[in-house]
Amino acid sequence: MDKNEKLRKDTFETSVYGSIEMLSKAPVDKIPDGPTSPQIAYQMVKDETFPQTQPRLNLATFVTTYMDEYATKLMNDAIDVNYIDETEYPRIAKMSAKCINIIADLWNSPEQNKWKTGDVAIGSSEACMLGGIAAWLRWRDKRKSESKPYDKPNFVISTGYQVVWEKFSQLWQIEMRTVPITMDKITLDPQDAVNMCDENTICIVAIEGVTWTGLNDDVEALDKALDEYNSKTGNEISIHVDAASGGFILPFVNPELKWDFRLKWVYSINTSGHKFGLVYPGLGWVVWKDKKYLPETMSFSVNYLGADVTQVGLNFSRPAGQILGQYYQFIRLGFEGYKEVQQNSMTIAKYAHDQIGRMKPFKAFSEDVVNPLFIWSMDPEYAKTAKWTLYDLQYKLQESGWMIPAYSMPKDIEEMVVMRIVSKQGMSMDMVDMLLADIQSAVEEMEKLEYPTPTKIAEQRSEKISGKVYTHTGTRNEKGQKTQVKS
Ligand SMILES: *Cc1c(COP(=O)(O)O)cnc(C)c1O
Repeated sequence: MDKNEKLRKDTFETSVYGSIEMLSKAPVDKIPDGPTSPQIAYQMVKDETFPQTQPRLNLATFVTTYMDEYATKLMNDAIDVNYIDETEYPRIAKMSAKCINIIADLWNSPEQNKWKTGDVAIGSSEACMLGGIAAWLRWRDKRKSESKPYDKPNFVISTGYQVVWEKFSQLWQIEMRTVPITMDKITLDPQDAVNMCDENTICIVAIEGVTWTGLNDDVEALDKALDEYNSKTGNEISIHVDAASGGFILPFVNPELKWDFRLKWVYSINTSGHKFGLVYPGLGWVVWKDKKYLPETMSFSVNYLGADVTQVGLNFSRPAGQILGQYYQFIRLGFEGYKEVQQNSMTIAKYAHDQIGRMKPFKAFSEDVVNPLFIWSMDPEYAKTAKWTLYDLQYKLQESGWMIPAYSMPKDIEEMVVMRIVSKQGMSMDMVDMLLADIQSAVEEMEKLEYPTPTKIAEQRSEKISGKVYTHTGTRNEKGQKTQVKS
């Protein structure tokens, strides 16, 4: 700013972009000395986020990026309501309880109480924590009552876990035992999981809608294997189902599949209301099969809001608007409406999966699409001569606004790089055709490259070092022999 600029003073009439503030930098380290007009403050914040991708073109996220106007209005109207003030807003607590009843029913809960046992959460992360903690405390209480040590708890999960389970393990110091996902066993192998159990196992976590692949663990087979194990050993190891995605897909698109409370050892399930529950972030749900599976020590009572309030969640205050949004969706769509939306997302996902699988450079990961998301990799033959990688394609697609992530798979098949598309409400056949055309032209452009891209060079270098080359017809086992892919 020169001297003259410093002498200038904004007035009421000064336009936003004629203001002095627009010549100064937005605060980074310190709160500004004085106030700024709301118009200018608004514009500065808005402009800072302006160049980001459009949420609707973000196919990386599982989280809702579209709700209708009425839902948006309802949620905005409740933006000033804190859920925890149950005494002041008793109807919101009741609405949350009604949502839990509805979700418990979708998951075939056998509970006879009028209000089913569950809790609202800020997302599946909080809901997973609560499910995991309950399993841990149940195990601990049992061990205490048997006068056995209870200082070395563990849980079993596949390497396809979402990061929340690593947090659960670290924060509560509960050992995480992982069953490898490989090209032979692309979901949790039930017998392998049970073989990892011992008297210190608090639960096995099965995943419906594995974040990495979109596939479902076979909970019915796991339940069977676990039942045999429990009856043989006298242990009472239960299953927590992390159905962050699948919890709102399976009841509508595959109601026959047994993965929920119909199974003997499934004691708790979580889902993300803000994923296929069709609500904006942050909303999660956890439900227990019965009140007796939620340890009483997890319910805290507070009295300073004007009445005794019991709460289970990790967070105290939380927005109420999401609960209104969820209840609205239940009323607005009903079972049939949810089914139509989820079926459309499935149809679009399957179509894109098919089309991409047919493009020369690509190879589908699995034949089945069981949730509205899928992954694919580069065809190994094509990769031999390609001068680009899927990471390059990710950047290329960003130029046209799409966010399609490329990432390497978890441990044991980490040399495999894939891309993922999550199809959800807000996506249409027309949009997916635009995306496919953009992928096609990005590929054509990259096929004209004369020299390999930096990511390709890096890939070749690491292949040389590790000696591990992933081929889609199989991964190499320890002896270096190829193993066959199930796809
Ligand atoms: C998304 C996801 C989570 C975390 O859920 P949030 O709602 O984002 O907290 C946990 N587990 C699985 C399998 C997920 O896909």
